Amino acid sequence: MPSIKYQIAIPNPLKHQFKISIDISPVANEALTISLPNWIPGSYMIRDFAKHVVALEAHDKDSKLDVNALSKNRFEVKHNNQPFTVTYLYYAFDLSVRKAYLDQEFGFFNPAAALFCVDQQVEHECEVELIKPESELCQNWLPASGLDGINHDDCFAWSNYKANNYIHLTDFPIMFGQLDIESFDVAGVPHYLVTAGKHFGSLQRAAKDLAPLCQYHIDTFGELPSDVNKYLFLTMVTDKGFGGLEHLNSTALVCSRFDIAPDKEPSPLTNDDYITFLSLCSHEYLHTWNVKRLKPREFIPYSLESEVYTKQLWFYEGMTSYFDDLSLVKTNTISYEKYLEIFAKTLTRIEKGKGQLRQSVTESSMHTWTKFYQQDEAAPDQITSYYQKGAAIACLTDLMIKQNTEHKFNLTAAMKQAWQKFGRNNKGTTQDDLENLFKQFLSEPQFELFKHALYGSTKIDLTDALANCGVALKYVTQDNQKHVQGANTTAISKPWLGTLLAVENESIVVKQVLEDSPAEQAGIAKGDEIIAINNMKVNMANVEQLISVCEQSDACIHYFRKDTLYRSSLPKQPSPEFVAQLVIQDPLLIKTWLSDQ
Ligand code: ZN
Repeated sequence: MPSIKYQIAIPNPLKHQFKISIDISPVANEALTISLPNWIPGSYMIRDFAKHVVALEAHDKDSKLDVNALSKNRFEVKHNNQPFTVTYLYYAFDLSVRKAYLDQEFGFFNPAAALFCVDQQVEHECEVELIKPESELCQNWLPASGLDGINHDDCFAWSNYKANNYIHLTDFPIMFGQLDIESFDVAGVPHYLVTAGKHFGSLQRAAKDLAPLCQYHIDTFGELPSDVNKYLFLTMVTDKGFGGLEHLNSTALVCSRFDIAPDKEPSPLTNDDYITFLSLCSHEYLHTWNVKRLKPREFIPYSLESEVYTKQLWFYEGMTSYFDDLSLVKTNTISYEKYLEIFAKTLTRIEKGKGQLRQSVTESSMHTWTKFYQQDEAAPDQITSYYQKGAAIACLTDLMIKQNTEHKFNLTAAMKQAWQKFGRNNKGTTQDDLENLFKQFLSEPQFELFKHALYGSTKIDLTDALANCGVALKYVTQDNQKHVQGANTTAISKPWLGTLLAVENESIVVKQVLEDSPAEQAGIAKGDEIIAINNMKVNMANVEQLISVCEQSDACIHYFRKDTLYRSSLPKQPSPEFVAQLVIQDPLLIKTWLSDQ
């Protein structure tokens, strides 16, 4: 089988275009088509990557070949039964982990978004040549990826690399730039924290904090997958932005310049931005097992042409979301108090809006393509996050397993078993496989509760489970959150508006209106510009104060919509108690949950 050879070049970073060429050897007399994926694994949305392809051409040694579009992402190349080369430009100006980006500071490239698949040769080995750019703007640039080198093992060389086949190739994002690289060993395998873009932190410190998190996950599953001979955290540092995407032996990350902390951070950590960055790294690293290798059977093999439906993202994202922050406290990277503060925020997000009463986590997983990944202003009242509610279910399951097995096992044991039964052998899971696996660890009533959590559109109540671990859970109003220190403070519910507001062009603009809130009853909608409450001009600071001080049962509100001034009556209602608070009640008992001893 001849290999397919890809060349990736950067002619001029200011034009935000990668120049790609693909050498293909066709089988004589066989029609040949090339196609680009329409989505990238880990991000469940149709993205139509082919729209960024420019000047697609094909040539053999004798002539230019006809290239005919068959659909939005597939082209037929009329070849002459001899090797030919496809060339094109790929427009790269998406500063996310999903597509490609290029400017004078750095470049990033997802093969799934930008490299064509040769449809008749999907199993052929792929070679990738990274061409050193000649532009002065790219002096001192290096590439970085998890690809295996051809006759070398340098992951930062302008050189040739290989992948087993096209789908394998799509799992190796490549970053380019003047890179900061910090290496550290975990379980005898080299790990690299790599950044492109100006930052003010210490990679040495970050590597020191990352190593125990990686080790924690390796211990959870009992081993690093055998094909992981290196691991790279490829981090694009920007002015603002946050996100990550998991891959086979690397993760692509975006963070802001201040997320990576300087060396002098205290231990345990208190810097929230840096904690969030480490949690993201931990999350993506855990995906090395959970979803990259242990994965829904529907994803074996990946079909990147159109949507692939699974109910199982509550497991693959929910469990991962639970363990990302939990790993920080279990490794003593953060204190118990900080962990409870972070987990309480997760619980609060679930409670905001009526979404959890309308959609189960399994439904949310099925409809992720159109709902979770395409959220609009009504999302809090209409959809459930399989990340957040999935994490709450993971916590409930963890604590139920502990209780049922008298602390002999916890959720880690179930994850390890899932890996051994369905992951390391690339078997994949069905929803039934996962349910049967948890059934072994739970009592019958606990299993019923677990199933109800997966399929029911109801609240997850963690109060009793957490109380058994010495933690009190209570819900307070948004206003009380600012004042309540202990669990026993009397709540005072002030009137509220029930909106998400933002300042735009010095106006107060509505971004979201919660269902049944006073704002909804007053007819307020997304995009409205709020002018006054009780004839007093509003600003971000006084909005809810103005409702509180109104002596009538209703306040009056003025707002603009489509340049028209409206006035309506705003009912005074107490704010609901949706802000979760977790308070340690028994400092010894909490260790049974948050320490591994
Ligand atoms: Zn994830």
